[in-house]
Amino acid sequence: MRILITGGAGFIGSYLSEAYIERGEEVWAIDDLSTGSLDNIAPLLQHPRFHFVNDTILNREVLLELTGTCDVIVHLAAAVGVRLIIEEPLKSIHTNVVGTELVLEMANKFRKKTFIASTSEVYGRNSKVPLNEDDQRIYGSTVLARWSYAATKAMDEFLALAYYRTKQLPVIITRFFNTVGPRQTGRYGMVIPRFVGQALRNDPITVFGDGSQTRTFTYVGDVVKGIIALIDEPQAVGEIFNIGGEEEITIDNLASRVKAVTGSSSRIEHIPYSEAYQEGFEDMERRVPDITKIRRLVAYRNTCDVDAILAKVVEFERTRYLSSATMSWGNTTLRITWARSTGESMSISQGASSAAAHGKAKSRRCSWSSATFQAAGSSTSAAETGSSCGRWILSGGNGSALNVRRRP
Ligand code: UDP
Repeated sequence: MRILITGGAGFIGSYLSEAYIERGEEVWAIDDLSTGSLDNIAPLLQHPRFHFVNDTILNREVLLELTGTCDVIVHLAAAVGVRLIIEEPLKSIHTNVVGTELVLEMANKFRKKTFIASTSEVYGRNSKVPLNEDDQRIYGSTVLARWSYAATKAMDEFLALAYYRTKQLPVIITRFFNTVGPRQTGRYGMVIPRFVGQALRNDPITVFGDGSQTRTFTYVGDVVKGIIALIDEPQAVGEIFNIGGEEEITIDNLASRVKAVTGSSSRIEHIPYSEAYQEGFEDMERRVPDITKIRRLVAYRNTCDVDAILAKVVEFERTRYLSSATMSWGNTTLRITWARSTGESMSISQGASSAAAHGKAKSRRCSWSSATFQAAGSSTSAAETGSSCGRWILSGGNGSALNVRRRP
């Protein structure tokens, strides 16, 4: 089978690509790398059955050709993450509505089965527990950009169902509930990679609001199995399914568990929503899925509780993004630890003595304006210059320089 995955270099898309390749299928992944990354698909790039197209789904010609080539379309490409939606509302709305309409139009031209990714966000502020697929959507004012995400994804669902009902296009719609796992980035607001990154850097863990809001997190590996099972199941066509975890947890409790599992000295800090997002921001209080429908049809099951998910994410962040090196500076041995992708801090330490460094990270190229640290009881100033990913050069006031290489 030939599968087209839009957003194939994204967090969920990269796992889905891997799963289909493992099953022996041929995969075409299209991604404009706006939120996805080549790192996510690096192991696949050389694979003869994996084809990567670096383009936007808004490119009609490219989409036409890919849709004609493939047997099934999995449409995951979208603007995601509360922070991104608030910061770039116009682009997000355009991608989510116009992009999906184009995908469905092309799919219909070639009569290809199409899987549409939706979100638990479509339920809006409905805090009923558990939420089933027919439950009400309750949204706040259009003045609040957050609700545009729910509205665009609901429009995607309406569009897909309209294609199914009026043109008999085989579509499947799935609402994901906080899908998480290694590779997810905290850059667009997602809470688990943000908390884990903060904990590993010993920065404050930032809980927005009073922390009593709840979520049910779902392991990405389970979500991927669910997607594949639904696409294989003829009775899934024309239906909407929740995919979600079963362990409801408050964000406060999540912060404590992240702190415990990382052994971090971070303090847990509560930040008002108005400061974290925007004035008048409204959050969902509870979000728990009813997964009876997908369980009955394709025997969906969750294999990871929150602790198991956190263990995987922490291991990933530790080995991949947080690196450290030991080196000599004059007659002093220093340990330097830096966070690359999460990239907001670097710490320099000498034995048990205190250490501090502050830097700025600009996208993936990081440059540190200055760093000050205590070494051998005296304060030394160090400036870090010319760093590219994984390579740091430190130069001190005494003219010495250190080259630091990231551990492979
Ligand atoms: N959140 C938080 N601190 C952060 C990021 C998120 O307390 O640094 C909260 C956020 O306000 C929400 C929950 O964690 O209540 C889940 O946020 P996320 O953006 O991951 O997903 P969503 O809001 O879409 O469920």
